[in-house]
Amino acid sequence: MILSATHQQFRHEIREFANSVIKPRAGDHDRSGKFVIENVKEMALRGYLGIPWPKELGGLGLDYLAYAIAVEEISRVCASTGLTLAAHTSLGTYPIFKFGTEAQKLKYIPPLAQGKYLGAFGLTEPNAGSDAASIESTAQKVANGYVLNGTKRFITNAGFAGTVVVAATLDRKLGRKGITCFIVETKSQGFIVAKEEHKLGLRASNTVELAFEDLFVPQDNLLGHEYDGYRIFMETLDGGRISIGAFCLGMAQSALDSLINWAQKREISQQAAKAIADVATEVEAARLLVYDAAIIKDQGRRADKQCAFAKLFASEVAMRSVNVAMSVIGIQSLDSESDLNRVYRDAKLGEIGEGTSEIMRLIIAKEVLKEEV
Ligand SMILES: Cc1cc2nc3c(=O)[nH]c(=O)nc-3n(C[C@H](O)[C@H](O)[C@H](O)COP(=O)(O)OP(=O)(O)OC[C@H]3O[C@@H](n4cnc5c(N)ncnc54)[C@H](O)[C@@H]3O)c2cc1C
Repeated sequence: MILSATHQQFRHEIREFANSVIKPRAGDHDRSGKFVIENVKEMALRGYLGIPWPKELGGLGLDYLAYAIAVEEISRVCASTGLTLAAHTSLGTYPIFKFGTEAQKLKYIPPLAQGKYLGAFGLTEPNAGSDAASIESTAQKVANGYVLNGTKRFITNAGFAGTVVVAATLDRKLGRKGITCFIVETKSQGFIVAKEEHKLGLRASNTVELAFEDLFVPQDNLLGHEYDGYRIFMETLDGGRISIGAFCLGMAQSALDSLINWAQKREISQQAAKAIADVATEVEAARLLVYDAAIIKDQGRRADKQCAFAKLFASEVAMRSVNVAMSVIGIQSLDSESDLNRVYRDAKLGEIGEGTSEIMRLIIAKEVLKEEV
């Protein structure tokens, strides 16, 4: 795909930043499991925490394609930082930008876009993953607002966030129709970071369990309308899949980078050359799908099918690419200092988070079967 001069220039800028600032720290961050807070500050300084939001709201005024390119390039050198950026932008900020009132946007988007604090999105619970309609966290209507109680699991960035967009039910009997979304400020009494999740990969991204204990949310922080939360988070997740696709694309490219580095230093067998060609072809196909979904979103069209294509394909390509790269390169790829060692563990999230591969296939089949033939 031929990118516009603006997008090419932006890729060049982001790549330089990623290679000079983020890449040198990626191995240490993975080994220590320490959150990438310095990287967050560096991204904030350059405006990268607000890439697709308008300048009037403190953003860079670019588009979703530019944002996808940024997530790709950063994930190529450090997937933990790429996920932090993706969750902050697509999950923590987008729903406020899309569904918030003017007052909510003016209050929350500028500090999020400028990196005064991170954003997060709390949907998943111990008994509600793919079946998000079965969430058990409750919101009870009281004078001037709501009181939230419940538990959320595997919430990215929430240990370092200023706001979390939370889904809770006003009436469990109503199933998905009872769900309502709220903008929760993490300084509120009753907002508890219960524990850090210790993960196989993405060890330097922050993932936590949250508890809400009689957490008061003012009426002004209702996001959208009561009983409209399911639609809000479904649309948020659709867009989020572009960035998870871009995050997986970055990891797939990183595996290809390792193969190219390795192959350029030796005579390689025909079998290795074939493996490299196959990985390169799949990575390019994943890039086309991710960029296509971003362009459709930039045109203001719903892109459910294209987002699912991008997320499903890029996540599976990331897993295949790193697996092939490790097999071709052999034992040195197992070394704890090797990028592939880290990417091998990081890539698995792509097939699970923001909708598993099985759920992506259900979405694609549903959309494809609506089409006239
Ligand atoms: C690193 C990380 C970060 C995350 N960050 C966040 C976050 O910021 N916010 C947030 O809310 N959540 C977050 N999550 C949670 C994530 O979105 C969930 O893991 C995901 O929705 C899947 O839910 P589950 O893991 O409970 O799997 P389950 O839903 O329990 O699925 C288990 C298996 O059953 C299959 N399955 C389930 N339902 C169906 C069906 N109807 N048809 C066919 N197969 C089915 C699944 O495909 C899977 O194979 C994160 C997860 C990870 C790993």
